[in-house]
Amino acid sequence: MGRARQFALFAIVAVVALATGYGGWRAYVRTQPEQCYACQRPIHAHSRTVALANGSSRLFCCPACALSEQRQEGKAVRVTELTAFLSGAKLSPNDAYVVKGSDVNMCAQAHEIIDADKRPADVHYDRCAPSLLAFAQEREAIQFSREHGGTVLPFREVAASYAK
Ligand SMILES: [Zn+2]
Repeated sequence: MGRARQFALFAIVAVVALATGYGGWRAYVRTQPEQCYACQRPIHAHSRTVALANGSSRLFCCPACALSEQRQEGKAVRVTELTAFLSGAKLSPNDAYVVKGSDVNMCAQAHEIIDADKRPADVHYDRCAPSLLAFAQEREAIQFSREHGGTVLPFREVAASYAK
């Protein structure tokens, strides 16, 4: 084979490899579950949280992560939507109750690996801890805390305590 033909062959192989790789990557990205804006963990359907951060609506893996964003960045983060842990229904932050610090933490259980993007990945610190789970009814939250520990609070109070 002459040099020119060798080069042509190489070029074809390279293009095909790139195209397949790119296609595979695209497919991979498409099939990924929703990811948290702050910590990139996959979002668990029953702790999904929407908050306004830096003027835009962002998705967070859990209320604790959204409120940690506020504490870390020193910028106002306003939670606009919570998800009921029991039913997966959307909740208004104004009416929701949370259980703080129970033994259930969807984020920590789902993913031990943190930090694709080199955020401070101190193993002793987890931005999603203590766990915060949202409930539509105070009695549901109380019932849950009997089984899993933690403190029942109106979400408003918890959000205010993070803002300090
Ligand atoms: Zn997160």
